[in-house]
Amino acid sequence: MDLTFTTEEKNFRDQVATWLRENVTKEERPPEGIEAADFDRAWQKKQFDGGWAGIAWPKEYGGRGLSPLQQLIWHEEYVKARAPYIGMCFLAVNQVGPKLMLEANAEQRAFHLPSILRGESLWCQGYSEPGAGSDLAGLRTKAVVEGDELVINGQKVWTSYAQYCDYQEMLVRTDPSAPKHKGITFVIVDLKNTKGIDIRPLELMSGGKHFSEVFYDDVRVPLANVVGSLNDGWKVTVASLAFERGTAFMAEQIDMANKVEGLIQYAKEHPAPGGRKNAIEDDEFRRRLAILRAEVAAMRAMSLASVSRIQREGKPGPEGSLTRLFFGQLTQSIWRTGMDLLGPERLELSPMAQGITHPYLRTFCNTISGGSAQIQREVYATRVLGMPKTR
Ligand SMILES: Cc1cc2nc3c(=O)[nH]c(=O)nc-3n(C[C@H](O)[C@H](O)[C@H](O)COP(=O)(O)OP(=O)(O)OC[C@H]3O[C@@H](n4cnc5c(N)ncnc54)[C@H](O)[C@@H]3O)c2cc1C
Repeated sequence: MDLTFTTEEKNFRDQVATWLRENVTKEERPPEGIEAADFDRAWQKKQFDGGWAGIAWPKEYGGRGLSPLQQLIWHEEYVKARAPYIGMCFLAVNQVGPKLMLEANAEQRAFHLPSILRGESLWCQGYSEPGAGSDLAGLRTKAVVEGDELVINGQKVWTSYAQYCDYQEMLVRTDPSAPKHKGITFVIVDLKNTKGIDIRPLELMSGGKHFSEVFYDDVRVPLANVVGSLNDGWKVTVASLAFERGTAFMAEQIDMANKVEGLIQYAKEHPAPGGRKNAIEDDEFRRRLAILRAEVAAMRAMSLASVSRIQREGKPGPEGSLTRLFFGQLTQSIWRTGMDLLGPERLELSPMAQGITHPYLRTFCNTISGGSAQIQREVYATRVLGMPKTR
């Protein structure tokens, strides 16, 4: 893999940086709610109108038709420009879009992909159920074929942002008699125009309502909304999980380097808790910060390897599980070091504390969502290292 950038790529980087400098809004993204959804749609549309949405997406779907490496350059400059978090457009742009390009038919692609890039459709993911999280293939929400429709009954849970979304990508059991991976179908549900769907937001300890449970009572969806073939949804899902685990968090990964450099700067200017010398002179903090800097560099190398694979083969592979696992653990180490650098007293009093404690708590979900740490290890061990399954 060639890690040097060509003149064309350097020029592209300059153009990206210029556009972002002139167009990134100074307005802060609302933390949640319908205001956040509106903000995310508007910012996505602005990128589309400027010609910067879907750098590596084909031109026929409104993208730029450029390389995955240019997409990575975009992410790098995006983070440097402190552009807003992609927010509720995350799933549609980073996972649903790439998956539909691989697995959907021409009509589905033509209908959905441009509207995703324009920020006109927000998507949520209906995979997890009360009895099926890690064991996703054990899902029980069922659908039966009646004429040219699927009739869905059951329940999903932990559906992020369902209450604000236009579409849901969903897994349903269509053949209960088949082995569990073989009787699942992947279907697109229009949440705004379909009867029988009850979305109930779940209130978190923090007071936020990011998740919902979603109930389906004789929900009728056209068979034309099935992606891939009936009973063959597992194949589509595996494609989506590869994107979720491989490259979807590219911008966040790049952002981590800034965070670590920020902590190093802080350690140079402030004493360690209870100490007199600046934290950078404390052996333990110096060691931890050095490891974090090296691990962030390793994370970038893993991301570049994923990008290289996509350039060669058109899609990420199962090695994305290791990237996702490492990403989750590294975010936790970074914010834990931030907490320790501040120490108990400053955590209570320093204005910087809020920017550390809240993200620290949030990082716990990074080793659960999209498949827990144990599941990522299992996938990597069995599908990449060729080790036997644990059960
Ligand atoms: C922030 C966040 C956003 C999410 N958004 C969505 C969403 O939009 N849509 C959606 O469908 N889901 C979503 N989820 C749900 C997520 O996919 C599940 O929480 C996850 O797959 C784990 O499933 P579970 O919670 O049922 O835990 P369980 O599967 O019950 O697991 C509990 C524990 O047991 C361990 N375990 C389970 N099986 C094994 C095994 N075979 N070997 C070793 N250990 C095992 C797990 O690692 C975990 O530690 C989200 C979760 C989070 C945290």
